[in-house]
Amino acid sequence: MFESLSDRLGGVFDRLTKAGALSADDVKTALREVRVALLEADVSLPVARSFVKAVEAKATGAAVTKSVTPGQQVVKIVHDELIAVLTGEGDPGRLKIDNPPAPILMVGLQGGGKTTTTAKIAKRLKEREGKKVLMASLDTNRPAAMEQLAILGSQIGVDTLPIVKGEDPVQIAKRARTQASLGGYDVYMLDTAGRLHIDQELIAQAAAVRDAVNPRETLLVVDGLTGQVAVEVAQEFDERIGVSGVVLTRMDGDGRGGAALSMRQVTGKPIRFVATGEKVDALETFEPERIAGRILG
Ligand code: GDP
Repeated sequence: MFESLSDRLGGVFDRLTKAGALSADDVKTALREVRVALLEADVSLPVARSFVKAVEAKATGAAVTKSVTPGQQVVKIVHDELIAVLTGEGDPGRLKIDNPPAPILMVGLQGGGKTTTTAKIAKRLKEREGKKVLMASLDTNRPAAMEQLAILGSQIGVDTLPIVKGEDPVQIAKRARTQASLGGYDVYMLDTAGRLHIDQELIAQAAAVRDAVNPRETLLVVDGLTGQVAVEVAQEFDERIGVSGVVLTRMDGDGRGGAALSMRQVTGKPIRFVATGEKVDALETFEPERIAGRILG
């Protein structure tokens, strides 16, 4: 389907001299291919441009060691730069959940995979870290969403806060906190309402919940297939609510991981997990190496 970057560059360099250092012209030709590969991987144009600039600075004049071809050398420089941009601070899979009960706020647009991801993370905390987790849906406009979380909870053996009609999201969040304290829970996860677009009401509601519980982590869940839109959504949520980490969903799809690079370069936020399917186990800790491999092809 895609021609890998290594193959492309191999072809380009076969036609060029095999001198001892990469010449400016060699690098220019190679970088054209790098740019195309990034765009094919769904990296946004401005991000691809600035990434290529950074690689150009590193590649020009770089010595080509005897054991590799110039193409391999450029691929290595691109690979190392990808890892540098994709890697955030700390261990992505380790959430800040000391001082129980620790609130985790889940935010994002409707349909991005927020509710499913909430259950996936709860399951992971329970099984890998032995945590006692409580989940609560704050989506008072969509009873079906509240039901969905309850069903997922019973599937994975994680408690959900009983649904009480007529409460607003802040009241539910406070009830979750009380129940989590009384019940000896380590973590309570608040699945906020999503909308199709970011609007004032959505933001005001998420901000009110944030102020009520002071979350230890605010995780933004975005559809990784939406590329540039995912990045814009992240910027907006971060400005208005404050985001501590990002989860990219639908990474089982056709996208080649470019959204991860754009997300890191534009927002600087750490990517914590990637979701790779509808099943409750389809969640992986974000690994820069794996995404870099996907982008390079
Ligand atoms: P929410 O509206 O943000 O809470 O989204 P949901 O959690 O309800 O997910 C919307 C749809 O996307 C559901 O059908 C999920 O099964 C599906 N979904 C969620 N995450 C993934 C994923 O990583 N890959 C795929 N293929 N589907 C997903």
